[in-house]
Amino acid sequence: MRGFVLDRIPAITRANGALDQVGTLAARLGAGAPVLLVADPGLAPFGIIARAEASLREAGLAVLTFTDIKSDPLAAQVDAAAALARQGGAGVAVALGGGSAMDAGKAAAAIAPGRAPAEHFSLGANPLPPKPLPKICVPTTSGTGSETTRTSIVTNAAGAKVWLWGDEIKSDAVLLDPTLTVGLPAHLTAATGIDALVHAVEACTNANANDGNDLFCHEAIRLVVRHLPTAVANPGDLTARAALQWAAALAGIAIDNAGTAIAHTIGHALASLRPVHHGRAVAVGMLATLPWNVAEDADGRFAAVATLLGASGAAELPAAYERLLRGVGIKVSLAGEGFDFITPEQLASQMGNAENAAMRRSNRRASSDADLLDFARIVLAQG
Ligand SMILES: [Zn+2]
Repeated sequence: MRGFVLDRIPAITRANGALDQVGTLAARLGAGAPVLLVADPGLAPFGIIARAEASLREAGLAVLTFTDIKSDPLAAQVDAAAALARQGGAGVAVALGGGSAMDAGKAAAAIAPGRAPAEHFSLGANPLPPKPLPKICVPTTSGTGSETTRTSIVTNAAGAKVWLWGDEIKSDAVLLDPTLTVGLPAHLTAATGIDALVHAVEACTNANANDGNDLFCHEAIRLVVRHLPTAVANPGDLTARAALQWAAALAGIAIDNAGTAIAHTIGHALASLRPVHHGRAVAVGMLATLPWNVAEDADGRFAAVATLLGASGAAELPAAYERLLRGVGIKVSLAGEGFDFITPEQLASQMGNAENAAMRRSNRRASSDADLLDFARIVLAQG
């Protein structure tokens, strides 16, 4: 028997319109103190930020709204949000948006009680300050799983994607409101949905995989396979949207317990070199490495994933995965997006950097530097 430890899961509420409960929840978690609201500025035209602010004010709370968040948020933006929290005496934080806004909001809430900037804590260099602000995550995409993880990914001053990690980062409560995701365009629905799938597949096949965590991984995979094509074809299908949102939260729990693997090594390396959506980057990373990974499936973990994708046996998994990827319209080729000027050696070197070491090590099959160069060649040539 292989033992396991499963980490705490935030309190989760799912309901159509759950966003309107954020005021009551923040009043309880923050004991009436002002609220730091970190939100994706792209939500403003849909009235979603205003709705959150209204709910918080109705609960009698002062609101400090911070929306200077870019995709792959900068450490400096996290610092600015934390400074706003300190100045306004925030006692609780709400992170509203996709992975970028949630990662920034969680990190700001974790570092606000101290004085050091976000980069001080990157890659676990220093322990996070004690007594982080309580955090509520409200995801508006269905992919990252940031709502249920202890991780925030930020871009440092050198342009590298680095992680902050610790229980101080994890949210205390999650509001899942499927109606917030119906406005997501098809290509982002596909990319974020595949990110959730890759999280779940990596968490149940990597070196940390265990029977306890398979519960979350396998259900997330089942839900994405069944509902992602529907949500891409029919964005207003609330049943599919709710299923994908739940899949993303489950896959977040899965990686919180077991981490990711080589597809995320590649995804982060790509995004450190040129702008590319995280979901698409890990999607192409998994496509490039799955044949190599399934070649060593001693304990049948890839075979179990294959069954969930409707294939029989690990050897058939890469083709089934590729069909799903192309079926939901993920653009596999990186040609014409600035990567033509990146050599395989540059990409392989980026994969080997310190910030990607933990993900690389988590992969069950060990990768040599020559393997990384092979993967880089495949990723840059895939079409
Ligand atoms: Zn991911």
